[in-house]
Amino acid sequence: MIDAHIHLDQYEDAAIDRLIKNLQPNGIEGLVSVSTNLESSKANLTLAKQYPGIVHPAFGFHPENPLPSPEDISRLLFWMKLHIDDMIAVGEIGLPYYLRRQSAKEGTSINMNAYIELLEQFLSFAKRHDKPVILHAVYEDADLACDLLEHYDIRKAHFHWFKGTKQTTQRMAEQGYYISFTPDLLYEAEIIELAHTYPADQVMVETDGPWPFKSIFEGQLTQPPMVLHVAGAWAAIREIDPKEACLQLRKNTRRFYGI
Ligand SMILES: [Zn+2]
Repeated sequence: MIDAHIHLDQYEDAAIDRLIKNLQPNGIEGLVSVSTNLESSKANLTLAKQYPGIVHPAFGFHPENPLPSPEDISRLLFWMKLHIDDMIAVGEIGLPYYLRRQSAKEGTSINMNAYIELLEQFLSFAKRHDKPVILHAVYEDADLACDLLEHYDIRKAHFHWFKGTKQTTQRMAEQGYYISFTPDLLYEAEIIELAHTYPADQVMVETDGPWPFKSIFEGQLTQPPMVLHVAGAWAAIREIDPKEACLQLRKNTRRFYGI
């Protein structure tokens, strides 16, 4: 199995070492480590070189952060171009759904247009260099992301930990976009509902680690073997054999990322 979305660079060094050692004995052959900014991209590149064939790095800027300066954006894109052959995809990129909600609650607002422009820069980069994109775009932001993907004619899009309306979900499925389920597939009704309907050959499993989860995962450090629980939950929802489910999810991830 492959953890299709994790922030490996956000773990402590000793934890990374343990986490990597725990992969193979638990049947995890690799992971896609996404980046939040230039520093994070550099850290993920170092990890990918340290663990070749296991850590597959993606470079980008996580949208739930304050806007970078134009200089920072140019620096990141320049560095990404320099390391184009090292990266499996452009990500994590997208739109700041939670940051926008938080700002509204505090009575402030964020410059949405600037975030959209930034996303466009990454999409145009991905198109130019023929790389898949890893998107953080939920609810109404997913519609906007779909518009932009269509505009830039990008077919390979992975909406990680996706949440959205039935209408958006259907549009994404028809466009051939992929989504991934996190451990909250074990307890979140909205996600379980999504797992019932989203095409079986366009889904993957992920942890988004070190993000913590509830239910049976409460108090545990999020680690890639948790995707086995996610696969098991997906198998139960789709009423298929758990082994078959694992094979399908693995095949989907390998197909999407070319690994
Ligand atoms: Zn993430």
